Amino acid sequence: MNRLWQRIYYLTPSILKRFFPRHYVHVLRWLGSFRSWYYRGDKVYCPCCEHSFRRFLQFKNRDGAQCPRCFSLERHRILWMFLIQKTGILSGKLVLLHFAPEYSMQNNFRKLPYVRYVNADLSSPLAMVKMDIMRIGFRENSFDAILCVHVLTLVSNDLKALQELYRVLKPGGWAIILSPVCAGKLNTVTPRFISLGELSGQGRKAFFTPRIYGSDYADILVQAGFKVKETDFVQEFSSQEISRFGFKEDEKIFFCTK
Ligand SMILES: [Zn+2]
Repeated sequence: MNRLWQRIYYLTPSILKRFFPRHYVHVLRWLGSFRSWYYRGDKVYCPCCEHSFRRFLQFKNRDGAQCPRCFSLERHRILWMFLIQKTGILSGKLVLLHFAPEYSMQNNFRKLPYVRYVNADLSSPLAMVKMDIMRIGFRENSFDAILCVHVLTLVSNDLKALQELYRVLKPGGWAIILSPVCAGKLNTVTPRFISLGELSGQGRKAFFTPRIYGSDYADILVQAGFKVKETDFVQEFSSQEISRFGFKEDEKIFFCTK
């Protein structure tokens, strides 16, 4: 794919999502069905949409990352598999808060018979509740379970966000808070805001480099109050299964409880 088509490919969904949220969902469904047919096969299997394909698709610079049908990425497939195998989410009665809901996963949660599902996001038009993760508008001890995938890396104060997640989680409840963790780094690198004021005198925050977590990620979760169990869930699968499900071998699950 040349650069122009690549830009169109990546920009179109975000424009549709922002200005035509309903159309965006229809386009995703249509595109998912079409790609599902086009990439039909039996080499890989997506646990999120329970369909198999001849391959997963490239996403950004990663080969074999995205499900052609439901758009799940490696982390979503691992998380969904973890949820159904380790948490009893299919049969348990619980109130679930899902931050920054992914298209591939929210469809599954909505179908769970015993789960009262709430999703929230600061800006996504698809979210049920508009909310800043650093100022969650729910009472303390409101949720039995919380999911938050690759959000902390983008917020200005991650500890504040974590403390808010901890506050609204019920005692005895669990949370899975996933972030990109660079195994080679010891310490988390905090994000850098470059103010437009530096350039134009207006003082607006304009450029932002996402936070990169290091091997101290679990300590940061603990700092917010959580008890944390770091698991190499992916290693419970054979190498054939890892490749068939399109998992990332180094993705870890940080299972937090209150
Ligand atoms: Zn899928």
